[in-house]
Amino acid sequence: MTNTQYDAARSELLARLREIDDLSAAADILHWDQATYMPPGGAAARARQSATLRTLAHNKFTDPVIGRLLDAMQPTVDSMPYDSDDAALVRVTRRDYDHATRIPTQFMSDFTAHISDSFVAWAAARPKNDFKAVTPFLTKTLDFSRRYSSYFPDAEHVADPHIARSDYSMTVATIRPIFSELRTWLSDLAAKIGQRPQVPDITNGRVFDPTAQWQFGEEVVRRFGYDFDRGRQDKTHHPFATKFSIGDVRITTRVFTDTISGIFSTMHESGHAMYEQGVDPSYEATPLADGASSAVHESQSRLWENIVGRSLPFWRHFYPEFQRHMGDQLDDLALRDFYRAINRVQPSLIRVDADEVTYGLHVIIRFELECDLLEGKLRISELPDAWNAKYAEFLGVRPKDYRNGVMQDVHWYADYIGGMFQGYALGNVLGSQFYGAALQAHPEIPAEIEAGRFDILHNWLQTNIYRHGCKYTTLELVERLTGGPIRLEPYKEYLQTKYADIYGIR
Ligand code: ZN
Repeated sequence: MTNTQYDAARSELLARLREIDDLSAAADILHWDQATYMPPGGAAARARQSATLRTLAHNKFTDPVIGRLLDAMQPTVDSMPYDSDDAALVRVTRRDYDHATRIPTQFMSDFTAHISDSFVAWAAARPKNDFKAVTPFLTKTLDFSRRYSSYFPDAEHVADPHIARSDYSMTVATIRPIFSELRTWLSDLAAKIGQRPQVPDITNGRVFDPTAQWQFGEEVVRRFGYDFDRGRQDKTHHPFATKFSIGDVRITTRVFTDTISGIFSTMHESGHAMYEQGVDPSYEATPLADGASSAVHESQSRLWENIVGRSLPFWRHFYPEFQRHMGDQLDDLALRDFYRAINRVQPSLIRVDADEVTYGLHVIIRFELECDLLEGKLRISELPDAWNAKYAEFLGVRPKDYRNGVMQDVHWYADYIGGMFQGYALGNVLGSQFYGAALQAHPEIPAEIEAGRFDILHNWLQTNIYRHGCKYTTLELVERLTGGPIRLEPYKEYLQTKYADIYGIR
């Protein structure tokens, strides 16, 4: 192929990808609007509008022309270095294309229609604690999920095609050993903490001004490096970050008067958003302009929320300022007591409210249940009992109802069963590993944080993670940054040091 032919194929591919990205971004804006400002009356039409845009984008992406353009470019990019942008563009687009074209169009539209009904059924049944009402939907979702996997007969495990959607390069075989070691270790630490005197809950009886929390949260993430000229924060029920373009990456949060959790959710979502804001602008509107995986994405949100935002150096700097923001509500609370309170460990039923130590156990429970369901070892009718048994075994707590048990997360009711959760726990592991690499390059980072400065850390993440978008897989990124595979040690060391201090464990 001549250079001119290559250039022509490349321009046509980029033009088509741009069009697909425009449709997806428009659908993302509709979703953002739905989750922030849309009145309830818009729901039915909005579901239809979103489905129309997503279907158009999907059809354009699975058009055989995309495959032919990739084929035309392949011989030329084969002679380019692995990490060149063009080689990465073809590699990542082909991976997504191969995955998307395995799924028959009819299957996709049947599933989309089913899952929209399933979500509506869950939203109505959850407040009524009615698991029976969702059982037929879940049974069908499981059937769809297993059929989805059947389009990938080369997969080693039935959950692998689902994991590949969000955490490409990871499989059940690579995740299971990590989770089994993590599970034992986290349970041991939680048990040691359980033997120590409880840390009191600071929120008791205090009232935290929502507007002041909002402003404080925005001020903190601005200092982290979240760019408000290319983003904004709005109110929602379930916080999320969303990207419409590299120049418009938004965050959402919620604030309450009886807890300061809203500021941590702002920090969390800013971690996702800074990642997307930091992608190389030349990747705009291509499949490269995305995070590497859900695990790497979660490593960035958790790094800013927990490793930075719940650390003592951070609060040494910000606590006096925060106290001023909160009127007189925290005047009687010393820094050290506040720090312990925002890091208190308490085995609980709800994943999204879980502390750093027990959070991973909530995730591992879901991962194991997904594998059992997909393998056919567990039936939907047996799921609530299996769920409750695992909570009793892993966390020592047992849900008294479905609402706070098997019906708490939207995931299985709004998408496939499989590949939905592993990223949340792997993200914590990777966050510590990446932070360790940043510290090795810049040992002054904790002192900088204590001085309220974050540019060294932000720049390191920008250079080593953000700008690459999804050019590298999770495992490639870990190898590039740490010179080896995923390791649990940095995460263990982080938790061990932090919680031994907070709970006085020797
Ligand atoms: Zn997140």
